[in-house]
Formats: sequence, C-alpha cells, structure tokens
Amino acid sequence: MSDGNLRSRFTHNVPTSVVAEDELRVHLSTVDTPLLLVCAVHVTGDSSLLDRFADKVGIPRSNVLGVVEAPVDSATLQANAELTDIVCDALTKRNQNPYLRTTDLALVARMADIAVGTYVDPKNLPMYMEQCGFAPDQRAISPTSTPPATLNLAIIGAGMTGLDAAVKAADRGFEYEVFEMEAGIGGLWWSQTYPGVAVDTASVYYSLSYEMTPDWSRHYPVGEEYGRYLTELAKKYELTDRLHFNSEVTQMKWLDTEQVWELTIEDTVEHTIRTVRAAAVISGAGHFNRPKYPDVPGRESFAGTSVHTARWRDIDLAGKRAAVIGVGAAGIQVIASIADQVEHLAVFQRQAHWVIPNLFPDNGKVGDSERWLRRHLPYYQQWSRFLAFWQMNVISYQMHKVDDDWIKTHSLSISPENDMIMQMSLNYINDTFGEGSDLARKLTPDFAFGGKRPIRDPGRFEPGGYYYALSQPHVDLVTSTLSRVVPEGIVTADGTLHELDVIIWATGMTLDWLSPIEIVGRNGVTLNQVWADNNPRTYLGGTVPGFPNLFINDGPNTGVATGGAGHNFMTETVDHYAFECLQLVVECGATSIEVTQQAHDAHNDRIEELMLDLIWTHEHRADTYYRNQTGRIILPSPFTATDFWDMNQRPDKSAFLLRAGARAGAVRQDVGA
Ligand SMILES: Cc1cc2nc3c(=O)[nH]c(=O)nc-3n(C[C@H](O)[C@H](O)[C@H](O)COP(=O)(O)OP(=O)(O)OC[C@H]3O[C@@H](n4cnc5c(N)ncnc54)[C@H](O)[C@@H]3O)c2cc1C
Repeated sequence: MSDGNLRSRFTHNVPTSVVAEDELRVHLSTVDTPLLLVCAVHVTGDSSLLDRFADKVGIPRSNVLGVVEAPVDSATLQANAELTDIVCDALTKRNQNPYLRTTDLALVARMADIAVGTYVDPKNLPMYMEQCGFAPDQRAISPTSTPPATLNLAIIGAGMTGLDAAVKAADRGFEYEVFEMEAGIGGLWWSQTYPGVAVDTASVYYSLSYEMTPDWSRHYPVGEEYGRYLTELAKKYELTDRLHFNSEVTQMKWLDTEQVWELTIEDTVEHTIRTVRAAAVISGAGHFNRPKYPDVPGRESFAGTSVHTARWRDIDLAGKRAAVIGVGAAGIQVIASIADQVEHLAVFQRQAHWVIPNLFPDNGKVGDSERWLRRHLPYYQQWSRFLAFWQMNVISYQMHKVDDDWIKTHSLSISPENDMIMQMSLNYINDTFGEGSDLARKLTPDFAFGGKRPIRDPGRFEPGGYYYALSQPHVDLVTSTLSRVVPEGIVTADGTLHELDVIIWATGMTLDWLSPIEIVGRNGVTLNQVWADNNPRTYLGGTVPGFPNLFINDGPNTGVATGGAGHNFMTETVDHYAFECLQLVVECGATSIEVTQQAHDAHNDRIEELMLDLIWTHEHRADTYYRNQTGRIILPSPFTATDFWDMNQRPDKSAFLLRAGARAGAVRQDVGA
C-alpha cells in the first residue's frame, strides 16, 4: 500500500518520538498488551516480535463502550513487561530508525488480528488503513490530469462535510469556494448550542481520518470542543479565505449550454443577492436544517418561555417549572444537563428509547496517560481507533440485520448481537429503577434495539446523567400524549394541566436535505419535484439523473447506522467518490458528469433489497425519522462500512454520461451583485 496521491498534503508520516524513560514507563503501564505489541513492531521494525509474543498478549481488555474486561493472566503480564522494555529501549534513543509503516498487507493483517483479538478479514484492511489514519486516500493523481481552472467548485456548508470537501478540493488542485449561511465554522456544531450538546460517537474515531487529534478531553466531547476541532482544521488546511459566511444558497440552476451551475446567494445579514457560477457543486448542507415541532394546537399561546433545542438562546432556568418535550439524543442531553437547575422538570416522552449506559469513569474524561500515549507512542492512536472502529463495525451490522432463525424464538430482539446490546440496556433500566417499577415500565421500549436511533446516557448515575436526572424527586416522566398547549402550560390526553414557566422542544429537525433550495436541473425539472413526497434517492456520490455535476453528500440512504462508524466515515467516503467523478471529467476532457437513470435505479433497487434484511423494515413498532410516510427507509445506508467504502473508491464509467460542452467564461463569474 503506497501513500498514493502524488500531490497529497496528507503525508501520514509518524514523527520520531524521543521520550524520557521514566515518563514512558508510567504511561505504558496503562496500555493494553495487544496494542503494546503492535506498537512495538512499528517502533522497532522487528516483525519477529509477533512470533515471540502473539500467543501471550491475550485479547484487548478495553472496548469502545468503556468496559474493561477480564483480569490479565501471568503470561500476559510477563509479555507486557518485556514489551515495555523493548519499547522503552527504542523510544529513548536519539537516533531511531524510521518506524515500520503499513505497506506490507500480510504483516498488517497479522497485526490487526492481534490488535482486536480475533480474525480480521484482510479484505477490510484497505478501508481500516485509510480510516484509521495509517494511509491516505489511495489515489495517485497523475500530474497530467490537473483540473483546469474552469472546473471550479461551489461547496455548500462549512460543517464537517463541506470542510472535508474543501480540503480534498485543495489537495487535488480544484478551484473552490464554500458558501455557509451561518456566521461561523462547524455546521451543527456551530449552530446547536443547547445545554449538554455533545457528540455521542466515540471521539477516538469520530474525526476526519487524516486529521486525528490526540487531544480530545472526553471520549464523547461536548459540541463546543468539536466545533473548535473543525475550526482548527479549517485553519490548518488554509481554507478560511475560501469560506463565505452569512451566504445562503437559495437557488441553483444548471445552464446546459454553458455547462455550469448558477447559484443565487443571499447575504443573510445585508439581505443582498448575488449570483455565482461554478462548474460543479458539492453539497455539505446536511439534512437537519429546520426545527421540527409536533402537531399540537396552541403552541403559540404559551405565556412562558418556549424554545427549540436547535434554536437555543440563553434562558434563566433557576427556580423554574420546565418541560422538555422529547427524549431523543438532544432531549436526554438537555434533561441531564438542566435537571439540577430547575425547580421542577416534566419530561414528556412519546416513545421510550433504548439507552446505552455510560461506562466511562471520571465523567468520560480521556485520562492523562491515554492522551500522552496518543501523542507520544507511535501508531498507538491509529491502532486504538482501529480497535474501536472495528468493534463498532462488527457489532453494528449484526445488530441491525435480522437473523431469521433467531426471530422464530425471540419476540423482541432480532439477532444474538442485537439481543446482547438490548440486554445491556434492559439491565441498565432494571438495575437503576428496579425491575417492574413504574419508571422501569415506562422506560422499557416495546421494539427491538436499533429500531430507532439508539441513544447514550451522557453521564453515569450521578449529576449529569439522564437516568440519574429521572430518578430525582423533582423530575417527572410524563407518558400521556400532548393534547394542547395553553398559556399556563401543557394539557395532556389524560386531562392533566402541567403548569409551566419554560417549554423546551427537543423534538428534532425536519429531514430537509436540499428542499429549502430551489435546484433546477438540466431539463428544467427541480430536485424537489424529483424527490416529491419525501422520497429522495441518489446514486453513489449523491448524484441524481438530470442534475449534472451535482454531488449531494449526506444524502438519502447514506446514514451510518449499519456501518457502526461516525458521520465522518460517510463524509469522507462520499466526498472521495465525488472527487473521483470530477477527476474522471478531467481525464476524459469532459465538462460534465451525470449518472444514468439506469444505474441510479439499479442502485436504489439494491438498497431496497438489502433493507428487507434490516431492522427498520422488520420492526414497525418504533417511530423513527429513518422512515418516510410510505414506510420507505430513507436515511440509513444498508451496506456494511467495508462494502460502502469499496463501492465508493472508483466510479464505474458506464454508470455516467460524460459530456463535453463549451464552458463559457473563466473560473468564477459573478454575474450580478
Ligand atoms: C445534535 C446532533 C448530534 C449529533 N451527534 C452525532 C454524533 O455524535 N456522531 C455522528 O456520527 N453524527 C452525529 N450527528 C449527525 C451530524 O449531522 C453529523 O455528525 C455531522 O456533524 C454533520 O455534518 P455535516 O457537515 O454533514 O452537516 P451540518 O453539520 O449540518 O452542516 C451543514 C452546514 O450547511 C449549512 N447550510 C445548509 N443549507 C445551506 C444553504 N442553503 N446555504 C448555505 N449553507 C447551508 C448549514 O448552515 C450548516 O452549517 C449529530 C446530529 C445532531 C443534530
């Protein structure tokens, strides 16, 4: 495996680490022995260590949920001591040999088996090597296929996806500009500021693979920390000059004769309009843009303070009677965060969620040793990410896939893996509230785990935890349906008036994709017409027939659920594919690329077929925004992470129409102001 991209700025070089022995020994004492062995191989370049220690290191003790498994036996302790000496000997020298890189796939395969404690099918390794920061994008771009300046890009959104597209554009030599309707960098990590907003995917793998950072303060960082990460990314990759804030794309029109998109952009502060032309558009606009409210009469009549989590503003909650409507990911973060500030909290739950316990000690803080090791022990960060990502991948797919034999004898869970996670959550309910108690009954879902997006308790059973908050005497869990909002509060279907000072709507966002933008394609048809009735479909790279040179990242059926990855995985993988398509345009001397209807339909037929084996078409008891009103699953991808990654590596030319038209004008033509 080579470091491919000839022009790439992603060097993936692991710098020489020279450290003091005392310090090194202290921190090494916390490393799982299998990871110590693979790092020892890297720093010594001595692969015979695998023969010597492979059967002595045991399996990794830690897992991505924060559980520390089984005690270590004496053979492992002995191996750990010897490997510690070996690593100390290597890393305390000033003159070190270059570290062993991951170029020999057979060797990497052996190391992978040791790092995760079981067999890893080598066919998965290229994806893991890229996504865990060992090797960059595999593409070797020939210097003769440099993109012409006329193939300029407009990127929508300065969240994770838009920034990744910008990094890739710069790396591959494309001209680009990014249009962001908000005033800053970060996407939802900029705009979502509700109390407790935080990532609920492990930080060790919820970051861009070429920009892993050893510095996360928490295993599940708060939103602000994640926003800082994205801001630093923009600075480091020198994107900031290309970012246009307060710039909302309101309309896009494909001009076929000129083979360009014309974008109408509104300045959200000055309220002026301008138009910009770009040969291609990559959308990183996300799919959550507008707050969603339940259909309850009287919402505007409430006399107190009413706020949606997605439009948070400072509110004085001290001594107030507050309500949180909704117990999804945002709802439970708010509840856990504000419970100790209010006088009384009413939690309105439409449907119980499965909640994964938070097993990390010390409020989920990443320990000092862990951070030190990620920075100073070469390849430790990469293998830690590998382990976490692998664990999630394997479990996640099996957890969502219906096992036909299993369901013959189980009424709720759909596979052994699904049952294992469900039992963990069920035990969490019963251990906390007592089996059969009123709260346990109300909190136990009647659908299989994963039927709707599972959520993670932001804290343990202590202040800052969700179940802890629910156990407090001043917090009530209300399961009666909302009937109407009145000036004094909320009336529920059982006739109770819940008197309130503050209502917090944690009722999610509309699944918008690009519907707020009028996008007119090649034949004058709009994307909203093609996707009418909440029925969006795309081919790979977020391409749609009739919409040349448009790549809708984070589009329908690309959600990460079955892949067990973070959103970053889909972001990078889809952006990669979009750039491969653009590279094809360059290499073919074309001006536009458009997916054929046939390829698009066949891909979507495949999605529907695979969905039949997955939980969401089987489990209808769960209300989920993954499903549209006709029952079609529109958000998650049905593919395994590896399959998804593989099919996104190179476009199949036969799936596309490549056209060569006259593209008028040069790079950016502002045709109005
Ligand atoms: C509260 C919350 C928590 C989440 N936690 C996780 C998690 O822990 N793990 C995980 O994997 N995923 C999580 N997600 C999913 C999440 O959407 C992604 O992880 C990710 O950050 C989204 O990045 P993005 O760049 O694709 O979209 P966004 O972050 O939504 O960014 C889109 C950007 O496009 C801009 N934009 C939209 N329309 C226009 C327009 N017309 N003109 C100009 N700009 C426009 C928006 O202002 C925004 O800045 C979470 C989502 C939410 C809402």
